[in-house]
Amino acid sequence: MATESFGFQAEISQLLDLIINTFYSNKEIFLRELISNSSDALDKIRYASLTDPSVLDSEKELFIRIVPDKENKVLTLRDSGVGMTKADLVNNLGTIAKSGTKAFMEALHSGADISMIGQFGVGFYSAYLVAERVQVITKHNDDEQYIWESAAGGTFTITTDTVNPPLGRGTEIRLYLKEDQLEYLEEKKIKDIVKKHSEFISYPIQLAVTKEVEKEVEDDEVEAEADEENKAKIEEVDEDEEKKKKTKKIKEKTVENEELNKTKPLWTRNPSDITQEEYGAFYKSLSNDWEDHLAVKHFSVEGQLEFKAILYVPKRAPFDLFEQKKKRNNIKLYVRRVFIMDDCEDIIPEYLNFVKGIVDSEDLPLNISRETLQQNKILKVIRKNIVKKCMDLFSEIAEDKDNFAKFYEAFGKNLKLGIHEDAQNRSKLAEFLRFYSTKSSEEQTSLKDYITRMPEIQKSIYYLTGESLSSVRDSPFLEVLKKKGFEVLLLVDPIDEYAVTQLKEFDGKKLVCVSKEGLELEETEEEKKEREEEAKQFDDLCKAIKESLGDKVEKVVISNRITDSPCVLVTGQFGWSSNMERIMKAQALRDSSMSSYMASKKTLELNPHNGIIKELKRKVSEDKADKSVRDLTYLLFETALLTSGFVLEEPTSFAKRIHRMISLGLDVEEDEPAAPAADAPSGVSEVESAEPATASAMEDID
Ligand code: ADP
Ligand code: MG
Repeated sequence: MATESFGFQAEISQLLDLIINTFYSNKEIFLRELISNSSDALDKIRYASLTDPSVLDSEKELFIRIVPDKENKVLTLRDSGVGMTKADLVNNLGTIAKSGTKAFMEALHSGADISMIGQFGVGFYSAYLVAERVQVITKHNDDEQYIWESAAGGTFTITTDTVNPPLGRGTEIRLYLKEDQLEYLEEKKIKDIVKKHSEFISYPIQLAVTKEVEKEVEDDEVEAEADEENKAKIEEVDEDEEKKKKTKKIKEKTVENEELNKTKPLWTRNPSDITQEEYGAFYKSLSNDWEDHLAVKHFSVEGQLEFKAILYVPKRAPFDLFEQKKKRNNIKLYVRRVFIMDDCEDIIPEYLNFVKGIVDSEDLPLNISRETLQQNKILKVIRKNIVKKCMDLFSEIAEDKDNFAKFYEAFGKNLKLGIHEDAQNRSKLAEFLRFYSTKSSEEQTSLKDYITRMPEIQKSIYYLTGESLSSVRDSPFLEVLKKKGFEVLLLVDPIDEYAVTQLKEFDGKKLVCVSKEGLELEETEEEKKEREEEAKQFDDLCKAIKESLGDKVEKVVISNRITDSPCVLVTGQFGWSSNMERIMKAQALRDSSMSSYMASKKTLELNPHNGIIKELKRKVSEDKADKSVRDLTYLLFETALLTSGFVLEEPTSFAKRIHRMISLGLDVEEDEPAAPAADAPSGVSEVESAEPATASAMEDID
């Protein structure tokens, strides 16, 4: 028995030192690496058998078998793969360093995780995470059976194997476990790891489980005694009794091979052969969800690039869907049935982070690292295809109204985020949007359906954003539109505002915010002329009001959008809407520099047909300096802030004005002890209100 000694190539020696000495708790990944190697070796022999079936003669069955031996503290991994020749052993396991050896060590030094070892093509050495000594017994069709052995320390040996039973073909790896790693001999532990990391290996992974069974055996002693002397007697006894006397119970150990990965890779099968239950079971195993999925898409892409994928949409959003820091493991990436990673960020855009599933690429290299994956062209194409298939999947969900309602409730926010982020798929995503509107009170409508209801003269899609349905339903901004029979979408989700400003148009129709400046309602020439006339007539009032409000408003103009209310406050076309201003103010960490130029520049729009405005106009034309105009203007402005969806900046002074009016209405004398009107230091102006009923004395509290 000739034993040859070899020195490990220097870098491999270093790597082994690092693996042995680095404190690292997630050691279980060694099993994934060794199983992956076995799977590779099986792939090789299977591939060879395609052209020459006789290569399988040495061992017909293709399998991976794990045998824990507690007595000897050895974990054995056997496969019937291609095996290694002596030259293979020398080259692959020790003397020729791959580029990944150094790269992996560098990666480790800069904080990489040992579990990435497989991606650097040195996964075999992870065996030394748990073993102090490793034997590789291997038989290749073209060579003898050999034993490779090393306890690290810079050297390994290779011996022609004359002691072990012949393998036929394949490789057996014996891990002589470190004293503190004996947990890897536990059946449960092994099962868990295989399930976690290698469930979808396409060869059976067997675990040799030892079972103690009680067995009734014939009692040889009794039988022996009975044999000669009592033969005649026994023949007389009836059969039952004979059995009782002649048997005893013993405990027997039996070893059975239990298959751990019964779930064959589902995606490799023909979709028409797969039941919904199977898709459901696979989904649950992927997602740990206890419920079935809402929808599934199983497809393969062929041509320049090949991959198979199964994508699932869950029924519910997880409670932490939008938690920023949490890494999601939603799409598992496989390369030729070998699991690569489950947190590949680049395989699907963030807004689709609720889609779960697997992708199995035929083209990506197995030893791809996270870094190179980022720039990988194949991955980019895969990603594009996945997004497209997600859109198809959503379209399919949309065919069933109830399902789509569930879907939209759970993931509508994601779609809106997608509209904001994904310019390429923006118009497709817009098809899935659903909003409440002035015409559909209970159900939400799609933009497409909205368009079908548009009167012929209507050119744009109108929307109003706000805090809640109840706050926008009766908004003054809707007055003229309602009268004209134009439907207005009511957008009450904070994210709507972001989405809609990005979307800009749908199906060639502009999306127009009815609370912003420059609302060009489809007017007839007559209407337009009339309004221009009015504008001229109200010029003086507009000027007077602007003067008294000062910087609080940008402009005061005559409105084309209100028919009942006296006035509204509209915002600049490209700035924030009142709703957006409210949202931004509520964000604790917002960048306040933005607000200075984005904050709504407000324009006060007056309704020339409203009694209050008419009366104000009369007052101004009589006396431009009428003080009551200024006071009433403030009240009008503040109520317009409220009805237009803004937040009151000085609610107390507003409240004081209102209280004073209430007092007047109730004929209550100025009875506030703290601030009797007569003693008020600031001048009290006796004013005559526009409405005679509330003829008032209003304190100037500005
Ligand atoms: P990689 O799998 O990325 O090539 P490893 O360090 O895991 O890197 O394995 C090194 C090499 O050792 C493999 O490429 C293969 O040639 C050989 N090898 C490892 N395990 C086996 C096995 N079970 N059967 C046959 N060859 C193996
Ligand atoms: Mg490997």
